[in-house]
Amino acid sequence: MTIKSLAKKKDFPIFSNHKLIYLDSASTSQKPISVITGIKNVYENYNANVHRALYKLGAKSTQMFESARETIADFISAPSSREIVFTSGTTESINLLAYTLGAELNKNDEILISQMEHHANLVPWQLLAKRSGAKLRYLPITESGELDLSQSEKYFTTKTKIVSITHMSNVLGTINPIEKISKLTKSIGAIFVVDGAQSVSHLPVDVQKLGCDFLVFSGHKMLGPTGIGILWGKLEKLEPLPPFMAGGEMIETVSMESSTWNKVPYKFEAGTPNYVQAIGLGFAIEYLKEIGMRQVQDHEQQLTKYALKRLGEISDLYIHGSPVNRGGVISFNINNIHPQDLAQFLNEDNISIRVGHHCAQPLLKVLGETSTARISFYVYNDSSDIDKFCESIASTKKYF
Ligand code: PMP
Repeated sequence: MTIKSLAKKKDFPIFSNHKLIYLDSASTSQKPISVITGIKNVYENYNANVHRALYKLGAKSTQMFESARETIADFISAPSSREIVFTSGTTESINLLAYTLGAELNKNDEILISQMEHHANLVPWQLLAKRSGAKLRYLPITESGELDLSQSEKYFTTKTKIVSITHMSNVLGTINPIEKISKLTKSIGAIFVVDGAQSVSHLPVDVQKLGCDFLVFSGHKMLGPTGIGILWGKLEKLEPLPPFMAGGEMIETVSMESSTWNKVPYKFEAGTPNYVQAIGLGFAIEYLKEIGMRQVQDHEQQLTKYALKRLGEISDLYIHGSPVNRGGVISFNINNIHPQDLAQFLNEDNISIRVGHHCAQPLLKVLGETSTARISFYVYNDSSDIDKFCESIASTKKYF
């Protein structure tokens, strides 16, 4: 069976520069030439600080920055580009929310997350729970690695004020039923945050269909540059929030005694924003749009199906989770081979995989592991990557 890559490998210079089999896109994605040269072009021809400079270059960079905001809004079907807040990444977006949404929380309240969250969607809420006295609760997962919603009434209660759940697990690949959770959250009047770090890059996402209040994601996982992330929020939910970081641009007026705030989204974009990275993310989205997100999802599902079949043929190898609805992420262990050793052997064959706790230590505890091996796919992967990876595992096994 042959599955061709969806994007041309030659669009990604890293694959010409290295003999690389890259199976770690859940960690970060490789970048197409259009993003790399696009960014270079901005620095070479249009660089000036945004929203400040009254000269021609400043007007151009501001226009490019704001047009990237519109591209991103359109990509997730946000009703208005004013709902797009630029941050440095998913981690900052969630910290912003935990800080600002948390201002009103007290010891009678509960925050609900799940056992499959990345530390970025766990530790900020843990800190908020400590600050406010609110209780942090965890939705359990089933044997198959899906969210266990069978006792939802126990978790979604009148005490629950914030629910924050990942759209897709970075360890198990599980795609969670966000629309269903959205209904449960609405029925108790809580705020619903969705961690889209692994989903926005890999499947069509429409915030209006999802029904959440906030969605967060990172540019670097979706062919874009590092240092740029998004916080999308419904305008009416963003507007009442207090500021997070303070400084230039986020203000309307400042006196020696006090300040008033700029309108959303600028209220949350203190200081010089990562405007070149934001523009670069716009280029990445243009590239993805040309391919089509439905096609991206289908491609990764085909690769995942193929990889699960091939991995199933390897003795002593066990896969974590068997969710029905899953994306292109597979975690596994092999009896008697530590994931770290496996990664080192694979590295000898230029195969890049991720091993460790994947920033999800509580989930690994539930799985009964301290470390797993993980492979993940993107538009530039093809079935030959999986074949070579399986061959490399077979030769590694001979040493153990
Ligand atoms: N949530 C999930 C599900 C993730 O996979 C990641 C990145 N591995 C993050 C949050 C954090 O993203 P970032 O490091 O880009 O802030």
